[in-house]
Amino acid sequence: MRLVFLGPPGVGKGTQAQRLSAERLIPKISTGDILREAVQKKTPLGVEARSFMDGGKLVPDEVVIGIIRERLKDPDCRGGFVLDGFPRTVPQAQTLGSMLGRTQSGIDRVLNFELSNDELVRRLSGRRSCPDCQAVYHVEFNPPKKPDQCDRCGGKLIQRSDDQPETIRKRLEVYQSQTLPLIRFYGDQGILTSIDGSGSPETVYRRVMTAVGK
Ligand code: AMP
Repeated sequence: MRLVFLGPPGVGKGTQAQRLSAERLIPKISTGDILREAVQKKTPLGVEARSFMDGGKLVPDEVVIGIIRERLKDPDCRGGFVLDGFPRTVPQAQTLGSMLGRTQSGIDRVLNFELSNDELVRRLSGRRSCPDCQAVYHVEFNPPKKPDQCDRCGGKLIQRSDDQPETIRKRLEVYQSQTLPLIRFYGDQGILTSIDGSGSPETVYRRVMTAVGK
């Protein structure tokens, strides 16, 4: 099962991808997570990516394509994967298709998560995450048991630097202009399913199950 989770920042696709990955035993591959880890470790990739990410802009195509090209060679990807946050531009999607080379897109199904802009801003501005294990919380909707502490590993929770109001606005704009065209790209190939992203993670997961088959 080769899946792509598409949708604006804050829609909850990462949370859904995480759960599906755990239950189906297929890797969740998030370019955002890989880039954040590189930034944290100050690797050359991280140094290059940081200014784009902090400004709410996309990291250049050739950089993220290079990341995915390497990651998909790992043996754990042979039985399928769920891509979260990649592709984000039409050139990325086209390159992914030629990399996988099975069908036009190389992908079995694309789930497109949808939510109103107001709700996206609420979700993003209350989001907290664990830099150690990548668990994600929300101050209002899914708070940790102890304030600012990860339930899973005890790490200190942080607010992502790109979850500040001005950067959120920029990321939503970038999504509209650069990522939205992918809906047409995958829609034309007949592999796109829309998922209502509203409601609890549990409710949304049930919709995901219906879309991918139990
Ligand atoms: P995310 O965690 O998916 O919201 O990604 C955080 C940031 O990482 C984005 O705002 C971009 O700066 C960068 N990024 C992640 N995935 C991609 C991608 N496929 N193409 C370009 N930039 C990306």
